[in-house]
Order: sequence, then C-alpha cells, then structure tokens
Amino acid sequence: MSKELDNLQPAGLWKYFQEICKIPRPSKKEEKIAAYIVAFGEKLGLETIVDEIGNILIRKPATKGMEKVQTVVLQSHIDMVCEKNSDTLHDFDTDPIQPYIDGEWVKARGTTLGADDGIGIAAQLALLEATDIPHGPIECLFTIDEETGLTGAFGLKSDLLKGNILLNLDSEDEGEIFIGCAGGKDTVITMNYSKVPVGSGFVGYIIKVSGLKGGHSGDDINKGLGNANKILNRLLWEANRRFELRLSKFDGGNLRNAIAREAMAVVTIPKRFVADFEKYARLYADVVRKEYKVTEPGLNVQFKTADLPDYLFDVATQERLINALYACPHGVIAMSADIPNFVETSTNLASVKTFDKSIEITTSQRSSVESAKDDVGNMVVAVFNLAGGKAVHSDGYPGWTPNPDSAVLDISRAAYLRLFKTEPKVLAIHAGLECGLIGEKYPGMDMISYGPTIKGAHSPDERLKIDTAVKFWDLTLEILKNIPEA
Ligand SMILES: [Zn+2]
Repeated sequence: MSKELDNLQPAGLWKYFQEICKIPRPSKKEEKIAAYIVAFGEKLGLETIVDEIGNILIRKPATKGMEKVQTVVLQSHIDMVCEKNSDTLHDFDTDPIQPYIDGEWVKARGTTLGADDGIGIAAQLALLEATDIPHGPIECLFTIDEETGLTGAFGLKSDLLKGNILLNLDSEDEGEIFIGCAGGKDTVITMNYSKVPVGSGFVGYIIKVSGLKGGHSGDDINKGLGNANKILNRLLWEANRRFELRLSKFDGGNLRNAIAREAMAVVTIPKRFVADFEKYARLYADVVRKEYKVTEPGLNVQFKTADLPDYLFDVATQERLINALYACPHGVIAMSADIPNFVETSTNLASVKTFDKSIEITTSQRSSVESAKDDVGNMVVAVFNLAGGKAVHSDGYPGWTPNPDSAVLDISRAAYLRLFKTEPKVLAIHAGLECGLIGEKYPGMDMISYGPTIKGAHSPDERLKIDTAVKFWDLTLEILKNIPEA
C-alpha cells in the first residue's frame, strides 16, 4: 500500500479512505466491506444494525451538551464501480485498490479509485470514531449496490431511521449542494403486424439517419439534440402521404437511457414516384441539417436503393406506427418553477425495434415530481392506445422534489458561507439519486446531497481532488455543529 496518503489531513478521513481501498467492494459483492463496517461499529460499542437487504446502520449518541439536538442521518453507498485499463492486472474481487497522490489529486493505479463513494464512507467512519467533534445524535447509513440497481435504497425499510435530516455524501462537485433529483420509469409498447407481400412495380430503399451525438436521456435532454427515431419517422410519414411509401423495417436507438443516435428503415416506393421521392428525401436532408446546424453538425440523412424486402408491414399497422411515432412526445415536457434551468419532466423516445411479428417501442420518462412522471408516462400510453399498441410500464424509481425552503439547506448554505466566504450553488439533477427512494420511505425527510470533487467517476481516470475532500469534511462538521435542537 501507498504510504503517500498517510501525511494528508484530516488524518481520520484519509486513514479510513486508505482502509477502504484495501477491501474489495464491487457492486453486488459487498460482503467484505459490510463485515468490516459491522465489526468497526461493534468494536466501538455502537448500536450496529444490518437490515434485511444488507444495508448497515450505526448509531452514535450525541456528544456532551448536544443531547437535545435533532438526529442527523449521514448516508453513503458501500459498493463501487470496477473499471480498469486493459493493460492493468487487477482482480477487483480480491486485490486492494492502490491510491496514490498525483499533484492535487488522489488517483488509483490503473483502476477506478472508488472515491465514489469511498470518501463518503471514510467520512462516516472517521466521524463515528472521533471523540473531539461536537455533534448531536447521528445515524450512519451505509447502503448496498447503488451503482447497479439502487438495491439498498429500494430495500430500505420505512422504520429503520430515527432522524428527520439526511446528508447524502455521494455528490461529485465541491461547492454544489443538491436538493432534488428526477425519478424515472420506462414505458414499452408492442405493436403486432402481419406480413404482406411486396408485389411488382416497386423500388426498395434503405434510409438511414446517422451522425447524431446521442447523449444521456436525463442530463442531456435539454440540449436540443436530435432524436434519430423522430428525424427518420418524419421523413417516412411525409413520404407515406405523398409517395405511397411502404415500410418493411424500422430500427433505431439502443439504450433506454440514451437519446437515439442512429436509425434506419427499409421501405418501398412505387416506380412512378421514385424521382419525386428522391428529390424530396434530398430536400428533407437539407431541411433537418439546417434545423440542427448548431446542436448536431454531423447529422446525416441518407437513402440508397436496395433489394426489395421479403415482406411489408400490413398497411393498417404501418399507418398506426408512423402516426404514433410522430405524435409521441420526446424531450423536455416541463422546466422547474423553483430551480432555475432545471428540467422537471421529460420523456425519451429511446428505441424502435422490428421483430418477426411485432415492433417494440421503448420510451423512458423522468421527473422530480412523481405525479408529473406518471402524467407524461400516460401521455405516451395514450398516443399508442390510439394506435392499437400495448403499453407496459416498468416499476421505476421515485424522484426527489426540490424544497428550496429546506431547513438543512439553510444551515448548510450558512455553514458553507462562514467557512469558505462564498455561496455554494444549489442545484437539482435530472437523473436518479438514492435520495429519491429514501424520501419515498421517509416522507418529510429533510435532505441534501454534497461531496468533494471527483472527476472521471466510473472510469480508471477517477480522481479525487484533495483540497475539496478537506472542504467536504470541514463542511460536514460545521453542519453538524449547527443543527438546532428538536
Ligand atoms: Zn456514487
């Protein structure tokens, strides 16, 4: 192990960060780190509970004179993303992470560092062990498997925590305090079709939309990016109306949480319309390139003649499909009225896939307001109901509605200003956090999420900025010192 980190301050925080680095903790394989944390709590004589799903809770009483102060829950997740460079020999199930200092940063040799969320765990352990830090009663909650399923937060019972204030220690930009996140769910639609023969007097074409940037369906949904499914379908719809286009295949998009980058269709056009169709398709390519010239300079709409397909979708299904895809909402549905520039509700027309007898359309909805998430999900269902499609929702996960009047936010803001002589940014993110699920189980829980600066999370470039870890620690202590009495 590196000795380099031994000299960093505060000693407790870095001691435990190094300890954690020694213990394997891939998502869904948290036994070793869990055993370590339980033994740690028990050795200190603190109340230590493992819940049914495997989350750990350690309670520490208030320090002298702070007994009447409200209980604060500090929360981190104990799993980490395991990524390594291809030339790195490392077994995440058994080998220790090797942290080292590179200038202003702590990095790991060839692997993810696991500062997400190891620095949160380290802060909790250092706090539990400390005898010289004033605080009221605290509950340290360690959740499992945040990274691959939010399993611990999903399985959290609504009677485990006593505190009504929660500090989530899993954010990655020092100077930012998060007070909200989006919940999400998927809506998947199936439309059955029957195969009809092509007949004579037609020309086959493959039409392709490509060169789009894609992007995350949460973080990037308000960036004006093109959706390949939408751009392709618009051409199909118009060519259907004007040139009797017939459809044999539609494939676009891939991941449900990505904006579709590419889409293709196999179609036929009657010979008598071929010249007009090609002229129109070229014109359309120009039109959309102009519409997206700023956000999608690489956008390409191409067509080329191809062999006639073996069959076509029946006419009725084709009509219903391209009308429904045209009408289906995509993008930002509502902006927040509380938080400037924060997307409240959105939907992503993620993918369209042609199978042997059916077409499957996958969409995903996000909102920091539960009811609005359901509303936009229903909007998508309604469109496809009209088109005779069968829609199924996934269970999804709840959002965390921002509360700009939060008491713990006020305390944290004031603490930040006192310590660092500048205001923190107060933000919400249009993606999921464990706070959404925790808030669902504990309505009224007053929560914030913050952390040190971590760059390159989930990749072997992951690095933790040392001075921000110190600020993160100092801010945590300052918040705890200023929690009022019940
Ligand atoms: Zn994390």
